[in-house]
Amino acid sequence: MRSPFWIAIILSAACSTPSSGGPAATPAPTAMPAPSPTSTAIPTPRGLPQFQRVLLISVDGLRPDALLQAETPQLDRLWRNGVHSWSAQTVLPSSTLPAHASMLSGQPPDIHQIVWNDWQPQRGFIRVPTILSVANGAGLEVGFIVGKRKLEQLAPPGCVDHFDFPGSDADTVAQAAMSYLVEARPNLLILHFADVDEAGHRSGWMSTAQLEAVARVDAAIGRLLEALAQSDLLDDTLIIVSADHGGHFFSHGSDSPEEITIPWIAHGPGVREGYQIEVSLSIMDTAATVLYALGLPIPEAWAGRPLVEIFAAVESGSYLATPLPIETM
Ligand SMILES: [Zn+2]
Repeated sequence: MRSPFWIAIILSAACSTPSSGGPAATPAPTAMPAPSPTSTAIPTPRGLPQFQRVLLISVDGLRPDALLQAETPQLDRLWRNGVHSWSAQTVLPSSTLPAHASMLSGQPPDIHQIVWNDWQPQRGFIRVPTILSVANGAGLEVGFIVGKRKLEQLAPPGCVDHFDFPGSDADTVAQAAMSYLVEARPNLLILHFADVDEAGHRSGWMSTAQLEAVARVDAAIGRLLEALAQSDLLDDTLIIVSADHGGHFFSHGSDSPEEITIPWIAHGPGVREGYQIEVSLSIMDTAATVLYALGLPIPEAWAGRPLVEIFAAVESGSYLATPLPIETM
């Protein structure tokens, strides 16, 4: 029999309880009921590090080559001392809201059904389980701080303890994140920076202005890491940095390599150092990897898979490769 703990997690993925710290304005509820969450889940193999905390940073519109050309000492330190891929792939359309929905739900757009890309509160919230709902349902403290209002549609009330859209520039978002991190010490914080995408739409992808925006985001991430260190939160935190899509000329959305290729970086205790991820990597794998790192079961229906090879214990063979048996309810 599945343990009551997991049953509680799976049932709570629908997020029926009201949020204590919801957004200032919430989208109207939708008439369509949430689908039943999956009844099975893939548990985490034993022997791998389980983190107290995951900090998932999404740098909107960041191409891998922009990261490598811009002045990014903080991100460079993370990927050089952690793992990285410069060939991860996002979903189609390569647009902010559908792609973030896949990043957080582990599912493609035809499943999560977030196929629009602007703030449309009348269309309601995402209706499939996400890392927000699974982690929050397991009783973990979950925060979601964003630089674009429309991402609120991925945070149904009751699925997140703290949602905030403090503004669009990196300094404001980072300051809000620092306050929340230090005060609430969340187990999962998803942080979204809008600056690079906005500079791309305004001045062009790979323009000088956009590379300067990449540098500003890097500096903001540096201040965030410093705040984590000063609060003794860094030693048990897995940090993942990625993007929702790239861009080309002044836009994105298509299947061109410049638009669908995204960076993927992970850094933390127990993560391999200086390792380039060899396997093909989808934005949907991010969700599964986050749950895996937190020791939470991954919904079996998810298309994304956890990136077990990023952990040093896998490299050394000192973990139990066979997952615990899957049991159905
Ligand atoms: Zn975007």
